[in-house]
Amino acid sequence: MSRDVIRIGGAMRKAIYPGSFDPITFGHLDIVARAARLFDHVYVAVLNNLEKKTLFTVQERLEMMRSSVTADNVTCETFDGLAVEYAASRGAMAMVRGLRAVSDFEAEFKLGAANRHLNPQVEMVYLMTSNEHSFLSSSIVKEVASMGGTVDDWVPAPVAARLREKFSRVEGRNQA
Ligand code: ADP
Repeated sequence: MSRDVIRIGGAMRKAIYPGSFDPITFGHLDIVARAARLFDHVYVAVLNNLEKKTLFTVQERLEMMRSSVTADNVTCETFDGLAVEYAASRGAMAMVRGLRAVSDFEAEFKLGAANRHLNPQVEMVYLMTSNEHSFLSSSIVKEVASMGGTVDDWVPAPVAARLREKFSRVEGRNQA
């Protein structure tokens, strides 16, 4: 039975899960899967922020996300500007974020307070990382991949392949 049918008479509970996802890891995918169980629909949104330097272009990040997310109640897309405005544009009642460590908490606390100020209608929902992903970050993945280490346990196979391709090109350039 589709979720729309279950929700007849009540509003669809939609959430956004915004991030840089540069690139997506199993830690992000775990949050996506758990959010998809909590909400009727989840928009996983890749931030297109021209000021933040990323390894992958927004289109590459979106492609990797689309090839990794399988749930039928999840839409992967890009957004720019304020996340609360993007949430409102999708009729989302919540913004999901993941928490790994105390350091995440501090940054998320500030971001959450700012978002609440901008639009109190969008509830911030924090999902604590699963134990096996608590150390996992896109930065660690990029650092290890840049030095030729294997990242197969941390990212889906197509993402690992793209990382290898990206860094072999950089290596090729350095040697030239
Ligand atoms: P940001 O959006 O801050 O640039 P990311 O794109 O890496 O960072 O992450 C998006 C969201 O996913 C953030 O809320 C971040 O804390 C969370 N996240 C990242 N890695 C993990 C992980 N291993 N486990 C749980 N949550 C994570």
